[in-house]
Amino acid sequence: MTKTWRPATQLVHGGTLRSPYGETSEAIYLTQGFVYENSAAAEARFKGETEGFIYARYASPTNDMFEKRMCLLEGAEDARALASGMAAVAAAILCQVKAGDHIVAARALFGSCRWVVETLAPRYGVECTLIDGRDLKNWESAIRPNTKLFFLESPTNPTLEVVDIAGVAALAKQIGAKTVVDNVFATPLFQKPLELGVDIVVYSATKHIDGQGRCLGGVVLADKQWMEEEFQDYFRHTGPAMSPFNAWVLLKGLETLPLRIRQQAANAAAIADALADSKKVARVIYPGRKDHPQADIIAKQMTGGSTLVALELKGGKEAAFALQDALKIVKISNNLGDARSLITHPATTTHKNLTDEARAELGISGGTLRLSAGIEDTQDLIEDVLAALDKVQG
Ligand SMILES: *Cc1c(COP(=O)(O)O)cnc(C)c1O
Repeated sequence: MTKTWRPATQLVHGGTLRSPYGETSEAIYLTQGFVYENSAAAEARFKGETEGFIYARYASPTNDMFEKRMCLLEGAEDARALASGMAAVAAAILCQVKAGDHIVAARALFGSCRWVVETLAPRYGVECTLIDGRDLKNWESAIRPNTKLFFLESPTNPTLEVVDIAGVAALAKQIGAKTVVDNVFATPLFQKPLELGVDIVVYSATKHIDGQGRCLGGVVLADKQWMEEEFQDYFRHTGPAMSPFNAWVLLKGLETLPLRIRQQAANAAAIADALADSKKVARVIYPGRKDHPQADIIAKQMTGGSTLVALELKGGKEAAFALQDALKIVKISNNLGDARSLITHPATTTHKNLTDEARAELGISGGTLRLSAGIEDTQDLIEDVLAALDKVQG
C-alpha cells in the first residue's frame, strides 16, 4: 500500500510502527534487549520461527522504522542503519571480499572511503586499483580475473565529477562483480542507483538525511538476498549498529528531506550562477549547469543538480582563504548537507592527506572551495558570497 505513495508522503508516514499508546511522533525504543513470554517463545524467536527482535545489535524498533522508511525512499528491498557513514561504507565493502579478491574504485572518493579501499583492504590481502572513473574504458581495463567489486561515488567530493553509473553497473554484471555506490552527494531524491543497475547503495545519513548537524549515521541498502547472505553475519557480529536515539533523529530528518533538498539545490544553483561570471573565478562546477563537463551523463542519471557547488579562484589559496574569512552567513566547516550553508577549503582540510600529485589528479588546487548550500534565503546567500568575493584581491 505505502509503496504507491510519492516520496514526500512516504518520508512522513512510511515505516511508522505505533505502540499501544498511539503516539503521533515515533517513539524512541532505548532498549538493549527484549523479553520473551516463556522459554519456548525464546527458542522459537532464535530459530527464526516467529517475527520479533532479539538484541539491539541485530535490530530494534526505532531503527526498524528508519530502515523501512529508507527502503521506501530508495526503492530497496532491505536496509540496515549503521553508526556512521564510514561504518556503512566499510561494512558494505569488507563483508563481501576476502584475501585474493580485487576491487576497482574511482579515485575521486571521500577521504576515508579512499583509505578503506586503498590502505585498509590491502592489509587483508584484497588488492585495489584506483582509476579515473569518468571514462568507462578505465573501468574495463582495470578488470582482473579476481575482480569482485566496483566502488564509486557520483558526483564526487569535492569537484563534482560524475561517473556513468549504469555503464559501470553493466560492466560489473558482465563479470559477476557487485557495484557499491556512495550516493551522498546526489541525495536519494536526485539519483536512484538501484534503478541504474547498482547492487548496493550506501549513505552517510550524517549529511542531508539528518540535515541539521546533530548526529552521525549511515545506511546500507540492497536486495534481501544480498543482505541475508553477505551482509547479515558481518553486521551482527562486528557491531556497527546505529543508536536508536540517532535513528529517531534521522526519522525526523527524513520528514523534511524533500523541502530542505529543494531549497538547498535552488540555493546552490543560484550561487553557482552568481559566481560564474566573476573575473576572479576560474571555474564554477555545478551538476545542474549546462556548462558542467559531463552534462550529458548528468541528464541521463540525475533528476536534480546538487546541494553543493565547487569553485576555483584564480588567486589560489590566498584568495580562497580571503573569501572564506569574509563570509558572514556561510560558515567555515567541512560538513555538508546541513541547513546552514557551509564552505571548506579541501586542499588544507578534507584532502590534506593526499599527495600534491593526487590532489592535482582530482582537480583540487589551492584556489578550490566547496560550498554546501543551506536553506537560508537565496538573496541573502548571494549577497554574502558576492560581498566576500569583493574582498578578494585581483
Ligand atoms: C561524510 C561522507 C562519508 C562518511 O560519513 P560519516 O557519517 O562522516 O562517517 C562517506 N562518503 C561521503 C561521500 C561523505 O560525504
